[in-house]
Formats: sequence, structure tokens, C-alpha cells
Amino acid sequence: MVVPAPPVTRFAPSPNGRLHLGHALSAIVAHDLAKAGGGRFLLRIEDIDGPRSRPELAEEFRRDLAWLGLDWEEVPAQSTRLASYAAAAESLRARGLIYPCTCSRTQIEAAGARPGLEGLIYPGTCKRTPPDPVLPASWRLDVAKAVAETGPLSWDDALAGPQAVDLTGLGDVVLVRKDLPASYHLAVTLDDAADGVTLVTRGADLFAASHIHRTLQALLGLPVPRWHHHALLTDDTGQKLAKRRGSPALAERRAAGEDGRMLAEQLRLQHLRLGT
Ligand code: GLU
Repeated sequence: MVVPAPPVTRFAPSPNGRLHLGHALSAIVAHDLAKAGGGRFLLRIEDIDGPRSRPELAEEFRRDLAWLGLDWEEVPAQSTRLASYAAAAESLRARGLIYPCTCSRTQIEAAGARPGLEGLIYPGTCKRTPPDPVLPASWRLDVAKAVAETGPLSWDDALAGPQAVDLTGLGDVVLVRKDLPASYHLAVTLDDAADGVTLVTRGADLFAASHIHRTLQALLGLPVPRWHHHALLTDDTGQKLAKRRGSPALAERRAAGEDGRMLAEQLRLQHLRLGT
């Protein structure tokens, strides 16, 4: 009999805004999946977003999670891992799998880019005509080359089932930002591997990103986890709950004396009703 290994899950908030109910649900789902399987629940602060990152929020997040009644192991924040991002980017660069791009958003729009699953699909301007190397550039994945190297790939979502990697709705995404040695896609893929995460749990709004992450795992020789993309909480109008639409921050509810464990129980019930 094959005994499944205890899962390692994580919650990976970015300290550029306060946590709200949607974050609480993500943390609870990841926590409960780990605990139900006798595994580990990790907290990783994704703090590489330069000027938007506010260090004091990381401490607030820890207080929010404790208030919800969760326990976790904290792993190093992204800002301590820049060297590993740079090394992976160098390997991709040396193999010709990423190319420099100096296009601004306006230029990408002007080039007639089509909307994709994650914003506009890059129209390939800098792939056809390499930019002046002295200009600051981001580096994009050359999807055609990547697919030629990896061949067909698949990944498994605990709820949605087996998925064939399909990058057509994403295009040549940025892996190294102009101002940072990684983008979200590269950093999160490397970190999940480094932290031994075996079940990547996050909201369904990041479902498409997993096609990229699976591709990067193949290109960089990283272990392949399972995924669990949970349904998102919505407000009364059916819109995704987000802080910009006025969903109260967990810290505000905490300060107002609300019982966090009770809130966590309500979210668990709501999640059951969502069916995922
Ligand atoms: N830092 C990302 C966020 O806050 C994490 C996404 C993920 O779980 O991969 O949206």
C-alpha cells in the first residue's frame, strides 16, 4: 500500500496591502489541508515588490493568522532569496529561453496586443527586434523555445483534475522585472520548490499562472507539486472580494474585537457551500 506523504502547503501574502477575507480563506484552506493530512503549513512573506512592500504589514499578517486560530512555520521572506532568483534567470538566459524587452505598457497596447488570461499577450516586438542592450530591460520567457524544450506537460489540480499545459492564453510572460531579479512567476516557482511545498494552495484567480509554473519546473529541473485552486469568496454583487472594493481588513475586524476563530469557522462553512 502506498501511503501518501503528508502535504506541505503555504500561504504567501504580499505585504503591499492589508489582508482581507479572501486572504483569510486562502490561509485557512491551506492550513486545514496540511493539518488534515498530518502535514506542514508554511507562511512565506512575498516582499520583493520594492516600493510597494511595507515591512510593518508582515507583523500584522502574523497577528491576523494567530487571531484566526491558525498555526504555521514561517520560512524566509522573498527578499532574502534574490541570489537564487538571479542564478535561475542566468541559467534561462544562457540557454536562450528568455529575451530582453524594453516595451512599456503603452507600446504593447499600441502594437495591437490581444487580451489574454493575465492581461495583454505580449506581441513579440522585442523578440523580433532585440532592444538596445544599454536600456533597462525586463526578460520574457520565449514560450516557443520553452515548449520545444519541454514537450507536452501536464499538471494536476486537486479540484479541477489533470490539466495539459497550454501557454497560448498567456504568451511570453515576464520572468525578470526591470527593477527586480524575478517576477512573481519565477520567484514563486523557485520558492515553492526550495520550501518543499507539495500542494500549492491558492485562489482560482491564479489558476492560469500554474501553466507557467509547471513549465518553469520542467525547464529548471524542479520537483512538481500538486495544486489546489479554491473558489473565491464573492460579495453580494457576485464580485471577487478585494480590498479595493472596500472589504474590511482582518486587522480592522480584529481591532474591533471580533472573534477571529468564529470568523474562521464561518469562512470554513462558506467554503463548504462553494463546494471547493
Ligand atoms: N504573493 C501572491 C499573492 O499575494 C501569492 C500568490 C500565490 O499563492 O502563489 O497574491
